[in-house]
Amino acid sequence: MEATEKQLTKTIATPRCFTPIIKCVGFACDMRCEYCFFRDQDRTKKLMSQTVLESLVQQTLANNPYSADFVWHGGEPLLAGIDFYRKALEFQSKYRKPRQVVRNLIQTNGNLINQDWAMFFAENGFGVGLSLDGPREFHNRYRHYQDGSGNYDRVMQAIDMLKEYDLTPGVVCVITDLSVGYPEKMFRFFLDNAIPIVNFNRADSVNQCGVPLPYVPSPVEFGQFLLKTFDLWVEEDNLEVKIGPIESIIHCLVSGECSDCLFSGECDHFIIVDAEGHVYACFSDGYGESWRLGNIANLDFNSAEFQSLSNKTREIREGCQTCKWFKVCKGGCLCDYELNFPLLGEKNIVCQPLQMLYEYISQKLRNFHLI
Ligand code: SF4
Ligand code: SF4
Ligand code: SF4
Repeated sequence: MEATEKQLTKTIATPRCFTPIIKCVGFACDMRCEYCFFRDQDRTKKLMSQTVLESLVQQTLANNPYSADFVWHGGEPLLAGIDFYRKALEFQSKYRKPRQVVRNLIQTNGNLINQDWAMFFAENGFGVGLSLDGPREFHNRYRHYQDGSGNYDRVMQAIDMLKEYDLTPGVVCVITDLSVGYPEKMFRFFLDNAIPIVNFNRADSVNQCGVPLPYVPSPVEFGQFLLKTFDLWVEEDNLEVKIGPIESIIHCLVSGECSDCLFSGECDHFIIVDAEGHVYACFSDGYGESWRLGNIANLDFNSAEFQSLSNKTREIREGCQTCKWFKVCKGGCLCDYELNFPLLGEKNIVCQPLQMLYEYISQKLRNFHLI
């Protein structure tokens, strides 16, 4: 049943820009990657109802008067089916104001992408992100189905299919113990396969009980991987090649501004919305109730929960005020603070490699007289 106008026009106490990261099928996924953040969660598909969807769209457009982003995430968001996204677009048309820019971004494992999906994404201007961990031997080791077989071939097919429709997917690549020692091999792999937009990530370092995971490179190893990748990128001298987070760091250093949430210092503006409309802090993903902020149907940015999140976001950054890189870094990502594991202490576990990166890249930029 769809929401009535009355339900959907509830006043919002304090309008404030936010970006929803939408878990429209809960933690459901057709894969069982080793490092999956949701490995111990209930993987039953919970499809977001049209009532919640309409409420989500209405609230997001009302709070972001100039431009609004919808980030469709998983589990595996394509399990929701094309009709779910057609409905989302319908609601976006219904609530969009004149000249309001609306963007849809979807992050998928690629398994379900076929001609229909590719055409749908192309026709409706979706930004598509795919998960690909580099060459077959690296990717298939940790990204696999329940039977243990990897989906490398499927992802490569998905990329080709998207290209047929003139879409350039951005790739999210998780760096593991296997790949961290091979920055050149990784860089060449993406270039040789005409994949110019890659975002390198580090897998979560602990499981949901706070126990360190074996296949995760140390923060310093990951930092060194990025340093080497930066050198390779400079040598390549091709601005079409965009490597995250290096590109964002360069933007921050050169212009002092960056659209990447990692360097925005505004983690309280990114919220997770689950299939039932519950809203959570971005970094709390998968850890349940302690950072639940309310429900999308009646968001209240003045609530105690939101205040607590804003305070936490601010407090953490206060500890960084004296850092010479604060203007660029702003304390980094709250996911890197182990906030879900108080026993580990509240410190940014990637602070050292971040400083190493800022120092190295800024020195190079000075040599090129760019800063
Ligand atoms: S594809 Fe994503 S959601 Fe699915 S198991 Fe792998 S990491 Fe988890
Ligand atoms: S917690 Fe990390 S991923 Fe989430 S908004 Fe903050 S910087 Fe971005
Ligand atoms: S580099 Fe470390 S100390 Fe400096 S702002 Fe970033 S997280 Fe804080």
